Amino acid sequence: MPDPLERSVTTVLVVGAGPIGLETAIELQQRGIDTLNLDRGPLGAQVAAFPPQTRWFSGPERISIAGVPLVTVDQEKATREEYLAYLRSVVAQFDLPVRTYESVTSITRKGDRFEARTRTLGGLERIVEAERIVLAVGGTARPRRLGVPGEDRPFVSHDLGEPHRCFGRRVIVVGGKNSAAESAIRLWRAGASVTIVHHRDALHPRIKYWIRPEIESCIRSGLIHARFGARIVAIGPGSVTIERMEDGARTEEAVDDLLLQIGFEADGALFESMGCELHGENAAVRHDPETMETTVAGVHVAGTAVNGTQGSFQVYIENSHIHAQRIAAALAGEPVPPDPDLPELPEA
Ligand SMILES: Cc1cc2nc3c(=O)[nH]c(=O)nc-3n(C[C@H](O)[C@H](O)[C@H](O)COP(=O)(O)OP(=O)(O)OC[C@H]3O[C@@H](n4cnc5c(N)ncnc54)[C@H](O)[C@@H]3O)c2cc1C
Repeated sequence: MPDPLERSVTTVLVVGAGPIGLETAIELQQRGIDTLNLDRGPLGAQVAAFPPQTRWFSGPERISIAGVPLVTVDQEKATREEYLAYLRSVVAQFDLPVRTYESVTSITRKGDRFEARTRTLGGLERIVEAERIVLAVGGTARPRRLGVPGEDRPFVSHDLGEPHRCFGRRVIVVGGKNSAAESAIRLWRAGASVTIVHHRDALHPRIKYWIRPEIESCIRSGLIHARFGARIVAIGPGSVTIERMEDGARTEEAVDDLLLQIGFEADGALFESMGCELHGENAAVRHDPETMETTVAGVHVAGTAVNGTQGSFQVYIENSHIHAQRIAAALAGEPVPPDPDLPELPEA
């Protein structure tokens, strides 16, 4: 009986077209190994989801991939838009086969090959056959939830989006790390009345050194309000109930927008369905650090996916370039690339 599904064949299927999935494919292509990247979203979906005009924390030299310089117009850190343009130009430069808006829904072994089932945004089901799999699926599959009643109300969001939307509105930002602090500042500048609610007694100690003075000064001078040592326990129509952690005292506060900036969770389902071992409270992916091969032969992991759900990013682009090189070296039968000897650069 003829196979009704469209089928493509490649040597290495790279799941994910984020920076590290793309870099891995380029490293492989440069060694004459065929690749295909599939992404369930657009190119660089995680970056595309940043709010408009967000600047990277890392300098351009640290997040450029495959040796292609990332040049910014003002010699500053790159914006979201500059980086997305950069990714498009890198893909074009290497003529990299990439299919976007095509989700990998399952991968099974068929003899000495793998068979991946995919679904396009338009609902087409397809099959990709490959000798090897690289899972570069990132660690931000879904936003963390508070787990309180009312969380699905339409004024609750996880993405800052375009700050202009909050002009003249009362916004509560939940969180105490970089994204929460940056969002609070941008929203206040866009004309919102902003309150930060954070369960700790102060902002996170690892707030970037150039964000901290600004957010602290805004809070000190009352331009941005802060409720530290407090948490949201319920979300009603146009209001939230805030509980003081110290004594459990509750107050209800009117709010127009509630922005949850409390991090992301990884989705280990694809790894688990293939039998890859996950470990620890992050559900990090167990792998051989020299080859990035998981506990399933022929299946490699690259990029932030390695570390599962990260409270704060410990694995990010800067320290994942080596994953791409190690996978390519392993598949090409080359010696293991040494740990990168990075020049001392200013802290990102
Ligand atoms: C606000 C913010 C600022 C950041 N700033 C920095 C910084 O300054 N420096 C730095 O190094 N890092 C930074 N990071 C982290 C950085 O964005 C990630 O480290 C980086 O995107 C990781 O690249 P990756 O290729 O490993 O994964 P990702 O970029 O997450 O790419 C994974 C891709 O896999 C796709 N995918 C997942 N599952 C499937 C599936 N089943 N089928 C098909 N496709 C799938 C996703 O759509 C996604 O495009 C920041 C993150 C955030 C949120």
